[in-house]
This record gives sequence, structure tokens and C-alpha cells, in this order.
Amino acid sequence: MAEEANPFENLQSQIDDATRHLDVADDVLERLRYPERVLETNLTVEMDDGSIERFQAFRSQFNGDRGPYKGGIRYHPDVSRAEVMALSGWMVYKCATVDIPYGGAKGGIALDPAAYSEAELERITRAYATELRPLIGVDRDIPAPDVNTGQREMNWIKDTYETLENTTAPGVITGKAIGSGGSEGRVEATGRSTTIVAREAFAHLGRDIADATVAIQGYGNAGSIAARLLSELGASVVAVSDSGGAIYDPDGFDVDAVAASKAEHGSVVDHPGATEYVGNDDLLTLEVDLLVPAALENAIDGDLAPEVRADVIVEAANGPLTPRADEILADRDVLVVPDILANAGGVTVSYFEWVQNRQRFAWTEQRVNEELERVIVDAFDALIDIHDREGIETLRTAAYVVAIRRVADAFEDAGSFP
Ligand code: NAD
Repeated sequence: MAEEANPFENLQSQIDDATRHLDVADDVLERLRYPERVLETNLTVEMDDGSIERFQAFRSQFNGDRGPYKGGIRYHPDVSRAEVMALSGWMVYKCATVDIPYGGAKGGIALDPAAYSEAELERITRAYATELRPLIGVDRDIPAPDVNTGQREMNWIKDTYETLENTTAPGVITGKAIGSGGSEGRVEATGRSTTIVAREAFAHLGRDIADATVAIQGYGNAGSIAARLLSELGASVVAVSDSGGAIYDPDGFDVDAVAASKAEHGSVVDHPGATEYVGNDDLLTLEVDLLVPAALENAIDGDLAPEVRADVIVEAANGPLTPRADEILADRDVLVVPDILANAGGVTVSYFEWVQNRQRFAWTEQRVNEELERVIVDAFDALIDIHDREGIETLRTAAYVVAIRRVADAFEDAGSFP
């Protein structure tokens, strides 16, 4: 099972599954399996007590054939070279699946942000931004938030870049606060696309999302917003979890109250309305209609997959299923909507933010949400179409087929240089 734990090998296996359906030359495919470059750097940062600490940090630029590199920045103790390489590849194929004009990248710092003060986090972030500066730019590489980063970190990175470059360039990063050039709807975008594809997947099965019971693993940006929007559609969110544990109520939670108690106390397990506490893995195998993994990679592996009882899985997280789990769930006819479509709302509204920054013209939230709806529904329909028409076994492989064709076309259209 060791190979299942390496997200970069999981990415390669997903690409391999698609190649059977592709008419793309082997040497071009070889290019599409590896990052173009990976920055690995050690940040030296002064702590509040005057001591100095070292932090390992990365930025992987996987592919830029369709446009500037694009992808988030993660702060987590498990950040590694293999993880950022995988996440950067998933960004390439995500942008191509929803047909927005970007390549893919990802970055991260190996640290637990909860262990540092805000002033320390600002110095760490600015040190990282200084290392990134030669690589990033409005037309070069555009970072965004990911696990444990948000508007605050994006604002610091933008300010560091603009100060060092002696310019204003809000489009160098997305996911900023509105006052710093952010877009309406960006905070909600990942949870919104998760909700849109869940609604479409149920409709595709001839069912109504309003009748669904839902379990959500991870209650951060992606998970908590998906919980709110799914509840607004009438679905009943019966189980949620975060790194502190999982809670379950067969009658369904008031998801805003859960979010409020997490904001106040730090974890969903502190929610006074919780009727039952379950293990984090137990949440993944509850008898529900829809399961939304919205935490980290490899949440469901080959051992857990036979126990999953949901009919539909919508991957808000990146890489939550190992390839073995994918295979088992496909054999069991569980409909899996892959990450590179389901959570693509984040990068799609990041793209809208970048477009607005370039035009120095802000859109309304209604316009953002309408454009997002169109992009995600069109991409979902295209995957169902190719899945049915070409007899492709899963929606994930259908997405890789569509995406790899687009990236390979862009590479081949460019001709050779030098
Ligand atoms: P976040 O930091 O806001 O939230 C992560 C949540 O997961 C937290 O509630 C954390 O407690 C929880 N968690 C961590 N380990 C867990 C475990 N073992 N069991 C249960 N919960 C656990 O991060 P986020 O931005 O919501 O990202 C979540 C996932 O969505 C990641 O895979 C990320 O790459 C993906 N994603 C995020 C965005 C975005 O715009 N933020 C876009 C696309 C994809």
C-alpha cells in the first residue's frame, strides 16, 4: 500500500489511466507527467523571542503550455516536495478541464501555523514571497490560498511583491481581501462548485439533491461553504469533521451554528448541538447519500473504500481518493465527481479575480456566480458526454482525457523552440 501514500505517484497513475483513451505521442505524454521546475528553499526567519528558525518551502511549476502557472499555497506540517508536485499537476489538469487559460503550480511551507504568532506568520510569509518573487508575476505565475492560508496571507504576498517590484500588481495573486483587489464570491467559490456538481450529479442519477443526506470531512473554506450551500438547496448535512474530530446528528445540523461554534472554540466537536461523536474514519463510512471529502489527500484508501456507503462522492479536496480506492468505488458503482472538476470553482473565480485586476474593474457577486455556474455546468456536461460517447470508465478518467488533449494540443500548436 506504500505507493498509495505518495500523491505524486497517484497523479501519475491517474494520467496513465487516461492515456489508454488518448491519441497523444508517448514523448509528449512523458512531458505531461513531470513538473517543469520545482523551487525548494529554506527560509530563515526571526521568531518573537529573537531566536531564528528554518522553514522548508517549495513552489512547483508543473506546466505552462496553456497560460501562466496557477495554484495555491499550503501551510501544513506534511507539506513535501512530492505533495506540491502532485498538487501542481492537478492544477494543470483542473484548469484544462474547465478550460480556463492557465497552467498549473502549487507551493507550500512545512509548518503548523497554529504554533506561531501572527507577527511570526507575517515574517515567514514575507520571506517566502521574497523567494518566490523571481518566479511569480501577473503573466508568469499567480499563487492563491490553499489549506491554512487565506486573504491575510495573500495580502502580505501581494504587498511584498509590489514593494520589491516598486509597482502595483494586484493580479500577481488571487484570493485577496476585497479591499486589496479581491473578487466577490472568491471565498465561497470552491464550496460553490462542489455544490453545483453535487446538484448536477444527483440530477444525472434522476435524484434530487434536496432529498440527500450529506457527510462532510473537513470544515474549513471548502467544507464549511459546501455545507452551507448544500443546506440552502435543502440537503441535510448529518455529519461533519475537522482535525479535532467528527460529529453526527441523523436529523441534520444547523450548519451556520456549527461554523459559528468552530469559529468561537476552534473545532466542530465543540458544537453544543452535536448528538454523537464518531471517529474521523467513521464519518467516511456513514450511511449517507453524498460524501464530500474536503480535507487532505488519501482520506479514502483501498482498505476503507469497501466500507464507504455513500452513493455519490464529490471531491472538494484535492486527491482524497487513492487510485486503489477509486478502482474499488468504480466497481461498486459509486459515482465519484473528481477533484479537478468539483473544486475547480476556486481557480475559476481566481481567474475572474485576475481578469478584474487586469481590467481594474470589479464585477458584482451576481455576475461572478452566474459565470461560475456556466463554467462548471458546461464542464460537467462535457465530462458526462465524453464518458458516455467514448465509453470511458470513470468521470475522473474522462476529465483527464479532456484535459490532457487540451494541454497536448497547446504544446504541439506552439511548435518547437529553439
Ligand atoms: P482549510 O485549511 O480552510 O480547511 C481544511 C479543513 O480540513 C480544516 O477544517 C481541518 O481541520 C480539516 N482537516 C485536516 N485534517 C483532517 C482530518 N484528518 N480529518 C478531518 N478534517 C481534517 O483548507 P481548504 O482551503 O478548505 O482546503 C481543503 C481542501 O480543498 C484541500 O485539499 C485543498 O487543496 C482543496 N481546495 C481548496 C481550495 C480553496 O480555494 N481554498 C480550492 C481548491 C481545492
